[in-house]
Amino acid sequence: MARPKKKLYIRTFGCQMNVADSELMAQVLGEEYELTAHAEEADLYLINTCAIRRKAEEKVKSLLGSLKFLKQQRPQLLLGVGGCVAQQEGERLLAAAPHLNLVFGTKGIYHLPELVGRIARGERVVDVGLNRDCPELPRRAWLPGTFQTMVTIMRGCDNFCTFCVVPYVRGREASREPDAIIAEVADFLAAGGQEVTLLGQNVNSYGRGLAETITFTQLLRRLNGLPGLSRLRFATSHPRDLSPELIDAFGELDALCEHLHLPVQSGTDRILKRMNRGYTHEHYLEKVAALRRACPGIALSTDLIVGFPGESEADFVQTLDLMRAAGFDQSFSFKYSPRPQTRAATYPDQVAEEVKAERLARLQALQDELTLKSHARLVGQEHEVLVEGFSKRSIEELCGRLRTNQVVNFSGPRELVGSLTRVVITEAHPHSLKGRRVQGLDHLVSVGRSA
Ligand code: SF4
Repeated sequence: MARPKKKLYIRTFGCQMNVADSELMAQVLGEEYELTAHAEEADLYLINTCAIRRKAEEKVKSLLGSLKFLKQQRPQLLLGVGGCVAQQEGERLLAAAPHLNLVFGTKGIYHLPELVGRIARGERVVDVGLNRDCPELPRRAWLPGTFQTMVTIMRGCDNFCTFCVVPYVRGREASREPDAIIAEVADFLAAGGQEVTLLGQNVNSYGRGLAETITFTQLLRRLNGLPGLSRLRFATSHPRDLSPELIDAFGELDALCEHLHLPVQSGTDRILKRMNRGYTHEHYLEKVAALRRACPGIALSTDLIVGFPGESEADFVQTLDLMRAAGFDQSFSFKYSPRPQTRAATYPDQVAEEVKAERLARLQALQDELTLKSHARLVGQEHEVLVEGFSKRSIEELCGRLRTNQVVNFSGPRELVGSLTRVVITEAHPHSLKGRRVQGLDHLVSVGRSA
């Protein structure tokens, strides 16, 4: 009889890339461990950390402190910290937390079975080598009913934006072989999958350094041809590297959803230069105009940093102007926080916290207005919706996403979860839409078909 598997609990902080990395952790440990949603029954507890902002890093350290209690109750529990904070802190983290067994970096994920074996034998281990290899893993098995997945297509970044810690904690850019990506997506579709999100720190530069000559757009075209793919998304794009061929793809590829996340970070040339972003206010808006010509209904989201060192009120106002001109449907905005090793952390003209807070509030108020306007434009229109689950307010109501990425709540049978349906938008709210399902026109696709 097969030995019962031990329990693995993973707490994930940060971005989509980290969510995908947590899936990878579960995959590489899958022979010995199975995931649990209950931390108190875990044999192995992993924290997957994010170092992109100081706040995220502080949260991890406070969680780690609070886990002392769990470890006292269950001394056999193995505790590991991985991801960007682990990469950055290494030995220091192990020294600061005597109850911690393992610190593993962003490349250590691939070597977890060996590392966990060592801590199970009583060692305390730090593995934060950025030169570790990232081998292709055995093919993934999807849980029945999985209809959305993320596929990592590249790791690391060569851009060295002056505020960003990623190149230091995730290493230099490396793309996966296209055949491995295509095989993974094909397997997922054969298992009943519908929507794939391709992930990389800067997907637009996908393909550099590979033996086969391939661009990111060519990869999208190959994936678009796979039978059964309803929706294809990707994150994240660097505006400088957004090529005309990729812009055109939005108007041409059936599966490619009409939504692009294009982080602008600031709307003023002086600050963009200090950030080492490689584009200007004008260039960014030219790309937005080209996207809207290629794909008139496209929705745009972005990332914005307020209070970058040296940002004046006039600079900030230019950012607000750019937001209005681009007409962002959604944005993710943050106060600048200095990160270790980055150039901007050494700039002498840091902006006061209260100024950052006041600007962030103004920027977010503007975004709320823009989002509501964009939602209001959808009222009365009929859209395809992928039903993702139940609404936050009630399990009587379904929740899904338009191809343009807005969330819509509507009434319908729970069997629709995981399938495509059509909905008429009836109400616009600041963070979501309300809709009515178009009865009789649903093209229900069953979930969990076997290969
Ligand atoms: S492109 Fe810039 S912001 Fe994005 S991961 Fe690379 S260095 Fe960081």
